[in-house]
Amino acid sequence: MASFDLIVLGGGPAGYTGAIRAAQLGLNTAIIDKGEVLGGTCLNIGCIPSKALLLSSDHFHFAQHQAARHGLKFEKVSFDLAQMMKRKLDVVRRLTQGLEFLMKKNKITRLFGIGEVVAPGKVVLTMKDGKQEELEGRHVVLATGSVPAELPNITIDRQTVVTSEEALSFDQVPNELVVIGAGSIGLELGSVWARLGAKVTMIEFLPRIAAFFDPDVTQVLQKALESEGVKFHLEATVTSVAVQNGNAKVDAIDKGKQKLQFDADKVLRSWPKTVLIRSCRKGSRTQVDRARSRRSRRVLPNEYPGAIRHRRRYRRSDARSQRRRRGCCMCRAHCRESRTC
Ligand SMILES: Cc1cc2nc3c(=O)[nH]c(=O)nc-3n(C[C@H](O)[C@H](O)[C@H](O)COP(=O)(O)OP(=O)(O)OC[C@H]3O[C@@H](n4cnc5c(N)ncnc54)[C@H](O)[C@@H]3O)c2cc1C
Repeated sequence: MASFDLIVLGGGPAGYTGAIRAAQLGLNTAIIDKGEVLGGTCLNIGCIPSKALLLSSDHFHFAQHQAARHGLKFEKVSFDLAQMMKRKLDVVRRLTQGLEFLMKKNKITRLFGIGEVVAPGKVVLTMKDGKQEELEGRHVVLATGSVPAELPNITIDRQTVVTSEEALSFDQVPNELVVIGAGSIGLELGSVWARLGAKVTMIEFLPRIAAFFDPDVTQVLQKALESEGVKFHLEATVTSVAVQNGNAKVDAIDKGKQKLQFDADKVLRSWPKTVLIRSCRKGSRTQVDRARSRRSRRVLPNEYPGAIRHRRRYRRSDARSQRRRRGCCMCRAHCRESRTC
């Protein structure tokens, strides 16, 4: 049975950063991911491909609508969607290959398959061919990410009603795209397809888009997106999505209980994901260290002095930012003077 100081389940941003840091601090570390490549949602089907498409579509939009103001002239501006997707995949491939290199450089054992914590410190790795291997870890980090949340009356068929994963790889520009949820993912992908020519309608339950940002920012953002042709329906709730012959009818009600209906050839569901912690057999979870994103430092054992220093540094800065948020430190100057933070 292979034995490690630390076994990390999940090779997304939470898992790989935790694994690299642990290895740098001297732990014999293994990382397990069920995918062919590391990087998780972010690198493979999230942040990185969406930013690649945002940039490409922004260049197109600039050439079409803004270049003339700069004295730049383009005749018959058009785009090649297949090439745009190819570039996106190249960006993703470069970054995921970089991660594999980092694993080697930091001497992290890279294991392929599904990991399951069966008992405290015991992980069973099930490989693609069905073979199983038992591993022992003094510490285990669960960084297995999340799955799309389901909403009643909306079935994701991944053809017409899609998640961000499919919306990052459409092989043609939709005519009418309805985006349910004007959070960061919906806004990013909505604007990509709007810039490329889709009629995009966004339906948001809350009174403003990107509700986690300051209203000053979101107002400007909404105006910018409206100028790209995106239509918004705020304080509206989607009640059902019916799909027939590849076309969808989206029913919603607005604040005044008025019924709204939208036709679409693609519907993107972009509300938040739910946490997936299914990597532990019953009874074993409470015994393992659980970590998500930056909190993964908690699993580092006390007997590693470097790890303690790393943890304390974060604690201090966390406390400082909390105090600032609470407002008990008047200003930065006060903090510096009194050295309370
Ligand atoms: C379109 C889109 C755009 C986004 N843009 C941004 C952005 O700009 N900025 C930002 O901060 N965030 C962004 N996000 C969110 C970001 O992708 C996630 O917050 C991040 O990927 C979460 O990282 P994670 O490591 O927790 O999980 P994940 O990235 O989901 O990684 C989990 C990994 O664990 C593996 N796994 C699961 N179960 C097991 C198991 N039992 N055994 C082995 N492996 C397993 C999975 O295969 C996966 O590789 C975006 C997301 C999307 C969808």
